[in-house]
Amino acid sequence: MPELPRPRPTLEEAEAAVRILIQWAGDDPEREGLIDTPGRVVRAYSELFSGYNVDPREYLERTFEEVHGYDELVVLSNIRVVSFCEHHMLPFLGKAHLGYLPTNRVVGISKLARVVNGFSRRLQIQEKLTAQIAQAVQDILQPKGVGVVIESEHSCMTMRGVNTPGSLLTTSTLLGNVRDDPRTRQEFLGLVRDT
Ligand SMILES: [Zn+2]
Repeated sequence: MPELPRPRPTLEEAEAAVRILIQWAGDDPEREGLIDTPGRVVRAYSELFSGYNVDPREYLERTFEEVHGYDELVVLSNIRVVSFCEHHMLPFLGKAHLGYLPTNRVVGISKLARVVNGFSRRLQIQEKLTAQIAQAVQDILQPKGVGVVIESEHSCMTMRGVNTPGSLLTTSTLLGNVRDDPRTRQEFLGLVRDT
């Protein structure tokens, strides 16, 4: 869990900040339709930024060793990514594909999705998110290799600024054999591309 340099503001302080933003945008936070909005925004934020309350690495700690010699790639594709760009606090949405080449143990597949969620639900940049997921799997499972590919659409690009709807940002982190062994690399990228 990241250490905060100062204590978290209270719920009331967070709601007051939302009221100020509404007013700053040009509306009246006291009118009927907006009166409960700060509360809703703060509740939505606590879900969208729930990644600050977890250490996603812990999800990987429980592993299964009874794998009957399985030593091929394990790939979970199309994991929904809901994250927020740290430059604009606007969502970027997309999917992650995560694969690893196990040594002698595997992890429950839902845990792979949880790791993606845990790191996503913070203020992020996609490049760092991709690397953090790969590094967590590498450090904890210590597989022969890891691959993470994320494709996503950044609202800060598609609904403002250069306004390029449909543009996708693809990032990848490949480690170990997934990076260095041409056969494994090709297999991983092939499995990801077919999805
Ligand atoms: Zn942005």
